[in-house]
Amino acid sequence: MFISLQELEVRKVEFSQRLAPGILELGTELRQSGALQAKGRAELLEEHRGGKNVVEDIRVVGDFSTEIEIRCARCLDPVLTPVGGSFDLLYRPLGADAGRDERSISEAETEIGYYSGDGIELQDVLREQILLALPARAICREECRGICPGCGRNLNLEACACGEAPRDPRWAALADLKDKLK
Ligand SMILES: [Zn+2]
Ligand SMILES: [Zn+2]
Repeated sequence: MFISLQELEVRKVEFSQRLAPGILELGTELRQSGALQAKGRAELLEEHRGGKNVVEDIRVVGDFSTEIEIRCARCLDPVLTPVGGSFDLLYRPLGADAGRDERSISEAETEIGYYSGDGIELQDVLREQILLALPARAICREECRGICPGCGRNLNLEACACGEAPRDPRWAALADLKDKLK
């Protein structure tokens, strides 16, 4: 859904969106597994900066929730992670802050982004919010045994003998060589 300046100049725009998995481009590492629900509103805030200098900021307020599959940091299995939250964002025209302080103290509570052209794409806003809300690291379960660095087996599914096996002969040869060089 595109939120255009043209429309915002007339009225606030309310949105209530349900995006099926696959609509938002989340890259190859992440998979949205449930519908994304988002609702909120967008409005225009005019910043008067003296004279005829009026900056048209777009404020987007809302909340969202969905479920994302993240790979387990240990075994790489997908972990279903509920993701959601609320947001209160301010978008300024790109270039409006050139040569100024990034933000004044009164705005410190609000996150500021920039838009170019004649509006913002709600999907871009939501994608960014999802990425920000994701945990940096997920583990499928506390006792996940992960992947054996020796043989690559998923140790949750099968045991391996790497721990007990004699050292790989190639490494042994290398160790011998190292000894000889001493
Ligand atoms: Zn795991
Ligand atoms: Zn192994």
